[in-house]
Amino acid sequence: MKLVFASNNAHKLSEVRAIMPAGVEVLSLRDIGFVQEIDETGTTLAQNSLIKAQAVMDFLKCQTLKDVDGVFADDTGLEIDALNGEPGVYTARWAERETGIHLPEMETYAANRSKALRELEGKENRGCQFKTVITLIYTRTYAVTQVEGIVRGEITPVEHGIGGFGYDPVFKPEGFDKTFGELSPEIKNTISHRARALQALIEKL
Ligand code: IMP
Repeated sequence: MKLVFASNNAHKLSEVRAIMPAGVEVLSLRDIGFVQEIDETGTTLAQNSLIKAQAVMDFLKCQTLKDVDGVFADDTGLEIDALNGEPGVYTARWAERETGIHLPEMETYAANRSKALRELEGKENRGCQFKTVITLIYTRTYAVTQVEGIVRGEITPVEHGIGGFGYDPVFKPEGFDKTFGELSPEIKNTISHRARALQALIEKL
């Protein structure tokens, strides 16, 4: 089976490829020559993952890539209990929404982590969750499937570890005394929001 994953994020691609079973080949946007920017204009994770999958499916329709079985896209939100579920759908650009300054990827991640630490300074309730929604669209039927995965945890008072990406150094999953930034990719890929959503997707393939 051949599926396009609507992303060029190297971290996400390596996680997804490590989790997918051997019989499923995962192509990136680069692999299929998709270079457009996709505007994530939805107000929910489900809408944004559908928008991304749909945009790539529209592109594929024009390419006669008949050996591709489907397209899937993910959208992830960090939902912090003490902030009523914020930043949620705005997780990727949380700091930018405050400052108006667009930074390169690694600096954006760092600015977002700093904002999380600042927002929770002095707060006892540091509980939060990562939620991922994945939308899969089959090439032949255009049938749409959506699944989600959640991992609960807490925002640590300071950063720990340099592994992973995004908020990983400040997110400690429930049941562990290390952050995703410190845990091995093997452990993250078993318990993470993305891993859980992918497991749910795999059951439906
Ligand atoms: P996206 O919608 O999947 O691109 O995720 C939105 C944002 O959530 C990303 O830009 C990251 O900041 C953050 N994020 C997504 N997945 C992870 C993860 O596995 N660990 C840490 N942060 C993540």
